[in-house]
Amino acid sequence: MVRAAGKAQKQVDAQKHKCLVPGCKSEAIGSHSQQRRGQLKVIARDGCVYAVEKNFYKAIKRPRRRFASKYKVFPTSVASVFAGYCSKHDAQLFAPVEKAPLERDDPLQACLLFLRSNSYEYLQKRRVRQWISMFLSETQDQLSIASRNSFVARLGGMDVYLSHDAPFYFRKIFTALERQSFIEFESAWVVVPARLPVSTSCCMSPLMHSHIQYMESRPGIIQPNVSFSIVPTRDETHIVVTWLREHSSLASWFREALADPVELEMMLNQLAFGETEDTCISPDFWETLSMQDQELLAQAAGYTRYAERPAPVPRVIRL
Ligand SMILES: [Zn+2]
Repeated sequence: MVRAAGKAQKQVDAQKHKCLVPGCKSEAIGSHSQQRRGQLKVIARDGCVYAVEKNFYKAIKRPRRRFASKYKVFPTSVASVFAGYCSKHDAQLFAPVEKAPLERDDPLQACLLFLRSNSYEYLQKRRVRQWISMFLSETQDQLSIASRNSFVARLGGMDVYLSHDAPFYFRKIFTALERQSFIEFESAWVVVPARLPVSTSCCMSPLMHSHIQYMESRPGIIQPNVSFSIVPTRDETHIVVTWLREHSSLASWFREALADPVELEMMLNQLAFGETEDTCISPDFWETLSMQDQELLAQAAGYTRYAERPAPVPRVIRL
């Protein structure tokens, strides 16, 4: 089984991807969903951060003695990398969020943060999809019927996202960028006057744990999705949530939540650790956490939105 996982991983790693910009035929390079020389650099120690292992083979092979080993040290050159854009588009598209400082409520920057999170999500799902289908064909009858069915169900869900939801979001984003009109986007944006020890760029449902229930009663609709970005700089941290205006009634609660200091602290911890596996953590911070907190955070990173309740997350980030 482990050999099949390794073989599937090798095939996934060898895959080449085209740039996501409509019409571009160039090959995608390794882009960062979290800027290496920006937000990752300010939380890194000796050029490294803690992040969740995304290599399926290593994740299967690793002995599961402790959950906390799920977070491993990675060089910032590797953390948050995805093959989304050719070198020309990677530099051009994201220059307004990489070459210029973030300005609260800037609509272009909010849209680009949304694009970056969506691009990373899309490539991640595509990799997982490839891995599962290769793993299934490698393992054939070695898997129990129950595990095979659960993999097949995951494939089905991913196919819907990859062929239906993701193209819809990309169309909205690239049209807005082309027209430089961001009327279809909204965001909640706060700036904390301190450098937080975490950085993230991810997508999540504004419905959190009622997402599945919501979708089950509305088959065929586009899944509502917000991007959640924590961008620490040298002396402050930007926390930005972006969504489509048509999802305003589902997502605008983020505005009130982020504006309230008590709620903001709670949300930050919950979202950064309980709703995503994409958070990068400063080693100086992670290594001072108790073993118990590290365990809880790592367990939370494995939580799925199929769980009825959100993952229990200790409040380790203090504002
Ligand atoms: Zn390109």
